[in-house]
Amino acid sequence: MKFIADTHIHSIASNHAYSTIMENIEAARQKGLVYMAMTEHGPKMPDAPHIWHCVNQWEVPSVYNGVNILHGAEVDIMDEEGTLDIDDHILAGLEWVIASMHTPCIKPSTKENHTKAWLNIAKNPHVDVIGHCGDGRYDFDHETVIKAFKEYGKIVEIDNGSFGSRPHTESNCAEIARWCKRLEVPIVVDSDAHFAANIGVFDKAIKILTEIDFPERLIINTDVERFEQIVAQKRAGLNR
Ligand SMILES: [Zn+2]
Ligand SMILES: [Zn+2]
Repeated sequence: MKFIADTHIHSIASNHAYSTIMENIEAARQKGLVYMAMTEHGPKMPDAPHIWHCVNQWEVPSVYNGVNILHGAEVDIMDEEGTLDIDDHILAGLEWVIASMHTPCIKPSTKENHTKAWLNIAKNPHVDVIGHCGDGRYDFDHETVIKAFKEYGKIVEIDNGSFGSRPHTESNCAEIARWCKRLEVPIVVDSDAHFAANIGVFDKAIKILTEIDFPERLIINTDVERFEQIVAQKRAGLNR
């Protein structure tokens, strides 16, 4: 499998990450990636940047040193109503929006609550990608929720960075990917890199996808044309 994009990347704008945007772009270029996304944490993460980082990211051009840049965010889910920590009018102008659950922003509770939260996120038109939902602390009803992701056209993330850092990611991601395969839901494989050298490193995600014989045509970032179609659609609907 050859990957052409890494769509989940952090920079030193958050204190728990270790590379600059420039270093990230250079790493993506060296790995032969055609696209990378800037997806900094939303402002409710304890050491995330001020919202100005998000709104001012257009200072970074759409193509730099041969790498296409998607301007985005990893927005935080705050509660089971699906409240996010970046306003809709800002999200409406971003090219790549990942919505994720992080413990400082939403405490793990019951399977019912997590299911409700994901169902509300599914309905949010500003969210493109469902972030690292294989986190075992946030158990949910896979069948019900992944059907909703399909209904509302969401892309499910298989996040290489979560293996080893979030409990039960491997078994949960395998089950989630099986549902995506069964229901024909597109997925994206990405790194969630907090250090430039980890950009484009997808080994653990590839391992589980290979084990369940996941169809490559449902992985949006293995083919430039397939990926560009999605980006073009997204860009056409932007409200900036
Ligand atoms: Zn982070
Ligand atoms: Zn995250």
